[in-house]
Amino acid sequence: MIVQKYGGTSVGSPERIKNVVRRVAKYNALGHQIIVVVSAMSGETNRLIGLAKEMQAQPDPRELDMVVSTGEQVTVGLVSMGLMQEGLKAKSYTGAQVKIITDSAFTKARILSIDEQNIRADLANGYVVVVAGFQGIDKEGNITTLGRGGSDTTGVAIAAALHADECQIYTDVDGVYTTDPRVVPEARRLKTITFEEMLEMASLGSKVLQIRAVEFAGKYKVKLRVLSSFEEEGDGTLITFEEDEKMEQAIISGIAFNRDEAKITVRGVPDKPGIAYQILGPISEANVDVDMIIQNVGVDGSTDFSFTVHRNEFDKAMDILKNQVQNHIGARNVVGDNKTAKVSVVGVGMRSHVGIASKMFRTLAEEGINIQMISTSEIKISVVIDEKYLELAVRVLHKAFDLDLDQEPA
Ligand code: ASP
Ligand code: MG
Repeated sequence: MIVQKYGGTSVGSPERIKNVVRRVAKYNALGHQIIVVVSAMSGETNRLIGLAKEMQAQPDPRELDMVVSTGEQVTVGLVSMGLMQEGLKAKSYTGAQVKIITDSAFTKARILSIDEQNIRADLANGYVVVVAGFQGIDKEGNITTLGRGGSDTTGVAIAAALHADECQIYTDVDGVYTTDPRVVPEARRLKTITFEEMLEMASLGSKVLQIRAVEFAGKYKVKLRVLSSFEEEGDGTLITFEEDEKMEQAIISGIAFNRDEAKITVRGVPDKPGIAYQILGPISEANVDVDMIIQNVGVDGSTDFSFTVHRNEFDKAMDILKNQVQNHIGARNVVGDNKTAKVSVVGVGMRSHVGIASKMFRTLAEEGINIQMISTSEIKISVVIDEKYLELAVRVLHKAFDLDLDQEPA
């Protein structure tokens, strides 16, 4: 049993839907049971959100979900028709028809349960089942959606509920790369990547899969594969569990980066208990996510406190802090820089190898790239640098860690 999830570009036109149909028919002919999960046609969800905003500046969340969920309802019907035209038995389902039950957090709902009875019965009767991604219903029967890119999560959740053998995510790239090939043309497609690495890569801005889908697959042990819907052959990238990795792993799997970082520094902060809370408390109350944090005591006993936020929230965070510093903290001043970027080396091999950080720092130093902040986890090292050096940094690190196409993986 295979779940095949097709994204918006894969079902972006009748012609492309016919391609999807041909692929499904091929797998069906091999004797597999297939559940197809689809997104709306590319651009459609944005168009629907645009319509909603013409009616209401801040669309009511329940009504917004009512509107945007229609995109997927169109594609499931079209895919089923295409399959029938090819002589297959097919049946489409909305999220509500399956009974994909979610909480009531409109526009970002979480799946609570999936009723797999009908799908199982249809599969047993020889149907290809086509399920609308991105949507569900809450316990009161309201239509909900799962957040942008949520069809990935639907695909994985259906695969988990039915204990499918594999969940294949078809997209417009043919797998997960060592870094963005637009920045480094020598980037290689990875045959495998572990869930943890994939989570790091995704959260660091490699947007191949919705993060929540990866988390879900990791939690429920769903075998997940990313493939191109535009290529006939190719194994894509298989997302594996570290403990199952039999092959010798490369130390570093990839270089991830994120252009959307902004750095804020509060200067001359009195060094006493409660200060970090006074600085970051109001920030988190305003729902601004903080990424990296650095604090260190200087010679005069006062400290500089730096942290990063998403660039879109830079102005908001600066305003909050200026007020906070003036009225409560008694720090010298607040300075900000929204021309920063984050670069990370990611790899589970770091757990068993030393010297990765020093190699990273030396490589950047050799190019005269100044490191402004550093953070580490067991499987990644991230640095914040001036945005203008981002592409250079990614290129030299990619090479230094033997990730270029013509290099043998170390
Ligand atoms: N159509 C939805 C979106 O654009 C869900 C998806 O494509 O995964 O976010
Ligand atoms: Mg998508």
